[in-house]
Amino acid sequence: MAQFRTLAFQELLKRKPRKVIPPSNEISDYYGTNVFDLKKMERYLSREAYKSVKQAIVEGTHIERKMADHVAAGMKEWAVDNGATHYTHWFHPLTDATAEKHDGFIEFGDSLGLVENFSGELLVQQEPDASSFPSGGIRNTFEARGYTAWDVSSPAFLVGTTLCVPTVFVSYTGEAIDYKAPLLRALFELDKAAVEVCHYFDKNITKVYATLGWEQEYFLVDEALFNARPDLILTGRTLVGHQSPKDQQLEDHYFSSIPERAMAFMEDFEMEAYKLGIPVKTRHNEVAPNQFECAPIFEEANLANDHNQLIMDLMKRIARRHNFRVLFHEKPFGGINGSGKHNNWSLSTNTGINLLSPGKNPKRNLQFLTFLVNVVKTVYDNQDLLRASILNAGNSHRLGANEAPPAIISVFLGSTLSRVLDEIVQKVPDKKMTPEEKTELKLGIGKIPEIILDNTDRNRTSPFAFTGNKFEFRAVGSAANCAGPMTILNAALAYQLKEFKKEVDKLVEKKSMKSDEAIFQVLTKYIVASEKIRFEGDNYCDAWKKEAEKRGLTNVTSVPESLMNYFTPQAKKVLIKNGIFKERELKGRVEVEFEKFTKKVQIEARVLGDLVINHIVPTAVQYQNRLIENVRGLKEIFSEKEFLEQAGERMELIKEISGHITFIKSKVNEMIEARKVANKIENEKEKAFAYDRTVRPFLDQIRYHVDKLEMVVDDEMWVLPKYRELLFTI
Ligand code: ADP
Ligand code: MG
Repeated sequence: MAQFRTLAFQELLKRKPRKVIPPSNEISDYYGTNVFDLKKMERYLSREAYKSVKQAIVEGTHIERKMADHVAAGMKEWAVDNGATHYTHWFHPLTDATAEKHDGFIEFGDSLGLVENFSGELLVQQEPDASSFPSGGIRNTFEARGYTAWDVSSPAFLVGTTLCVPTVFVSYTGEAIDYKAPLLRALFELDKAAVEVCHYFDKNITKVYATLGWEQEYFLVDEALFNARPDLILTGRTLVGHQSPKDQQLEDHYFSSIPERAMAFMEDFEMEAYKLGIPVKTRHNEVAPNQFECAPIFEEANLANDHNQLIMDLMKRIARRHNFRVLFHEKPFGGINGSGKHNNWSLSTNTGINLLSPGKNPKRNLQFLTFLVNVVKTVYDNQDLLRASILNAGNSHRLGANEAPPAIISVFLGSTLSRVLDEIVQKVPDKKMTPEEKTELKLGIGKIPEIILDNTDRNRTSPFAFTGNKFEFRAVGSAANCAGPMTILNAALAYQLKEFKKEVDKLVEKKSMKSDEAIFQVLTKYIVASEKIRFEGDNYCDAWKKEAEKRGLTNVTSVPESLMNYFTPQAKKVLIKNGIFKERELKGRVEVEFEKFTKKVQIEARVLGDLVINHIVPTAVQYQNRLIENVRGLKEIFSEKEFLEQAGERMELIKEISGHITFIKSKVNEMIEARKVANKIENEKEKAFAYDRTVRPFLDQIRYHVDKLEMVVDDEMWVLPKYRELLFTI
């Protein structure tokens, strides 16, 4: 066995679970200890400052500068009491990670030398150099400054000795160059639009917020094996590797008992998550070997997303303590399940109602149906935008492969609700309703069973499924920042609800209808208009692709092609006119996405090129030489006739290996040439298209031959840890 691989196995034999002892058996004893939450604010802030922050959190009001000084002082005091020496504005630039730049609390005092200080000014806003963050041409190089600004709605937290303040990140000229700012804008618009619609039903509703419960899937790989795979190290996925004879076909990993080493890792990061106030609740083995999932109790969407970003970072760090590497890539291994991040999403009100949960009376149920139908319409009208928000270099390998949702967006409602919608269409006449018709309808919707929650036949194959009291957007990739899809979904629904309100009000005004009758009219129209997006069947089968095409639903798997949907009239309405992005911001953002795609494919192509030329081909040649030697020997000891009988197959093998090597070498050269051509293109959009069409196809073509070689070359000589080792050794 090649040396690196052998060493990895020697390491592996020494591994033991690294158990951690929690501070207390009761999680509630230490939950949130590292968060400057309302409880701690009450203790560390003056009454006035506390009230002002609380109001800002609940109502989105502005915090006066003087008050910010008080808050900063209290926050610092708490942080220092808990061992902090530094602070940072923590933000979500348009990369795959969060960003932080730590500064000490220290300042020179008048005469006292160093003093600890943290002013309102430092809390509220900072000016990190933005020049090394992607902005898609928004930031001019001569004006490299960017601002980070405090997001009061997400509490500050402590990591090690650093106080982290969640912030948005904007360019000097005021454009958002992060994921959080547009999400906050979308949530704001949604709140406004949804509250207005709620007022048809309940005037007490003054606030609507989106809720998000993410389910984070991931793989664990032993560190020693990981380190012997340059492709994993540099791209997060295996670019070559023959399928293991056994992987997930026996369906024996899902929900099976968690391996001890993995369990110790989970307990460790969950404990840290609890301290950070992240309410993780569920853990289990996923479908593929060495694949796992972690899910929290849902929270308000912006906070939930901060928590998801934070926990991914936490998991990466803590995995190392356990000699693991955690893989968030959407498709780290070919041929088996990839990893997604299901976004469970719903809408809650200040009155404690879940708007996507049916209620006990007709009025509540009409409210429920109003939101449900508007969501279905939103998904229908914005299928291309929603796809653009989740499709990227990594996720494009997952969608449509091994039990992952296809790139066709559809909505699953379950048979009970489907029936309800179909009945409404049949019952609501295209004119004013008679009192009898109205009563009948109301009785009908009054019967929407409360048990719908248990009734929803769960369709696991749907990319956007109603699951009783929420929707589950399953096409989101595991490495994604949920803010991407959450911005689009909430913005699009906000737009849709505004349109809905306009239509209803018009009917009320012009046709002097009662509002609930007008609501029925408009909903009926929407149900009919968006019928094509509803699909109850198996999304994984080929028949659905044909059916979807017939229905006119789109099916795009190319990342650059999908990104073009940010430039459509629909995008303009939903994102620009709706106040989520300025035109320049959106353009910049898409530019960043094109660039990211190009760079990822470029890196993969380079790594694969190096890997095959430095690792695979030399090994294959070495083994081939051994075979040639063997054939020579046979020739020496056998007669001509016997030799031909004995050596025939070996000579075939020599030829086969030659064939693979020749193919690989020539394809690698072609791939390099294709890159050279693509690299000359300056326009980011065109470059991404070139990489997609002329470079990316080589990856699979080359891999095919490498994987064939893996099957014939002596196992002792093979340099890279194999799938059976990567997937079955923890
Ligand atoms: P699954 O059966 O899809 O694996 P889980 O129970 O693992 O479901 O996860 C469901 C997720 O949905 C959890 O994170 C949960 O908090 C979340 N969830 C439940 N209700 C809501 C809601 N109203 N809004 C958003 N997320 C929700
Ligand atoms: Mg789920």
